[in-house]
Amino acid sequence: FFFGLLDAASPAEAPSAARSRFRRFLSYYRPHMPLLAADLACATLVAGTALALPLIANFIVSRLPQLAAEPDTLSKILLLGGVMLGVFVVQSLATFFVDYQGHAMGAKIEAQVRQELFEHCQKLSFSFYDQQRTGQLMSRISNDSLWLGELFHHGPEDIAISTLKFAGAMAVLFWIDPVIALLIALIIPFAVAYALHFNRKMNVALRTTKERIGTINERVEDALAGIRVVQSFANEAAELKRFDTENQRFLDSRKAGYRSEAMLWVGMDGFAQIVTILVITVGAFRILTGNLSTADLLTLLLCVGVLVDPVRRLDNFIRLWQEGYTGFVRAMELLEKQPDIVDEEGSMPLTGVKGRIKFDKVSFRYAENCREVLSNVSLSIKPGEFVALVGPSGVGKSTLCSLIPRFYDANQGSVSIDGHDVRTLTLASLRRAIGVVQQDLYLFSGTVAENLLYGRPVASMEEVLAAAKAANAHDFIMALPRGYDTDIGQRGVKLSGGQKQRITIARAFLKNPPILIFDEATSALDTESERAIQKALLGLAKDRTTIVIAHRLSTVRHADRILVLTEDGIVEEGSHDALMTANGVYARLQTVQASI
Ligand code: ADP
Repeated sequence: FFFGLLDAASPAEAPSAARSRFRRFLSYYRPHMPLLAADLACATLVAGTALALPLIANFIVSRLPQLAAEPDTLSKILLLGGVMLGVFVVQSLATFFVDYQGHAMGAKIEAQVRQELFEHCQKLSFSFYDQQRTGQLMSRISNDSLWLGELFHHGPEDIAISTLKFAGAMAVLFWIDPVIALLIALIIPFAVAYALHFNRKMNVALRTTKERIGTINERVEDALAGIRVVQSFANEAAELKRFDTENQRFLDSRKAGYRSEAMLWVGMDGFAQIVTILVITVGAFRILTGNLSTADLLTLLLCVGVLVDPVRRLDNFIRLWQEGYTGFVRAMELLEKQPDIVDEEGSMPLTGVKGRIKFDKVSFRYAENCREVLSNVSLSIKPGEFVALVGPSGVGKSTLCSLIPRFYDANQGSVSIDGHDVRTLTLASLRRAIGVVQQDLYLFSGTVAENLLYGRPVASMEEVLAAAKAANAHDFIMALPRGYDTDIGQRGVKLSGGQKQRITIARAFLKNPPILIFDEATSALDTESERAIQKALLGLAKDRTTIVIAHRLSTVRHADRILVLTEDGIVEEGSHDALMTANGVYARLQTVQASI
């Protein structure tokens, strides 16, 4: 039954892989062995004390006539009541320990898995994120791990308590009356089959409900984010109709889930009632025929209560297992993904950077089945040179630049800095030497100052101010409601495009890298912003090797050298004037831009 559940959680896996993953699951308990042992001991106590009560009750009732004849009857009954109270106290303490410390253990393991997932995600390469939706990753790190904690806690405890209670109650039943015990044993498989059947139906409904709420969320997000489009096309009624259909489908699956859940609980209660009725009816016959005492009948009835609990728990456990273990498998799949780009063996830190960059017959494609974006590209950039990279959109300008900090590795040929192949350098030192200002810039939620300090967390406030001034950002920052302490909202929504770009430039000033890669924004900026950014860029480019993916004539004019990239590779290079005179691709590109 258990290994069936194991396979169900990861159906696509070979049994050996499923077993090794299960071993990994168990390995998470290793640092918590003392706690697990205490948890299981308390679980045993919970089950043991649950069985002790029927036995003590049996003792009292069966000895009652005898006790009545003895002196001190009252104090003896009180003593037995006290013993039962003691048992109850022990049971409560054990339950408290299991509920509190057991849950805490589950939460600790859950926190550890979440930490491992987050840490691992920080290491995974650009290529991984190209294929992965961040929403799904977030749900793995936050939601899936919640179920994990529950499973790590309830797994061993539920198995221990249920098995012990079930086995103990069955043993007592067989010991007291094998006939009645056998009858109950014959009913149990039907109860389990019933529970499993409706549990399966409930799970199907649960899964459909989850999918449908996902669709509803997408619809809501789409319709609200695009509300201006909806209203401008006067399409509200059509949107409402689509939403209504999805909402109805969601409601149907919820109803199906509740129907199965109700059937399950009615069935489980029915099972308890049927067994109770059976024990009373058959028990009455057995008392009449002299095979059973009244005290034994009382014990049997109390035992039925203990026996029913594991069957009830079965349903909870299966759901927990399915959600939790499927989450665990998904988390492990993510942890097993190896980053494509790591420090190679024997890699050395890059020090004393001069900034000479060389591409030697570099070819690159994003994936096996993708076309080659760069084929056989060679170029050389001198230390301190300001190079503008121009060319039609989609020819691979950004791709070329992303090979320098090893966001991706070339498939053929090599990229080197100061004569060192980038693959022989440690990633951290390489990336510290290169400042990248991306067009698709990213600011974190927080204050302006926090975002600037991201460039160099140890920088002083004077350095931050100097960087902001150099990036032509100081004045507009001071005009914000709280200056450098202004919260810029998620992804910097409260700032304009030009302002965001100047903050990223200031961030790069603070980082002060010997090599700079600047992807100029293609979107139109007002003349003032453009001029401010241009000035900031020229300041930033001073004394460092700079490659700009340039879209503006004003930038290109300032470059020491312009490289023109087309699908055929670098087809032209030279100064603006020389290239205009040559009247080739560059001149055509400029004419097209000028005519827009
Ligand atoms: P440019 O910067 O010249 O506009 P890019 O370097 O951004 O061009 O893109 C070059 C080509 O590579 C385009 O065809 C683009 O679709 C493709 N491309 C860019 N990024 C990725 C990626 N992460 N995964 C797959 N293909 C990509």
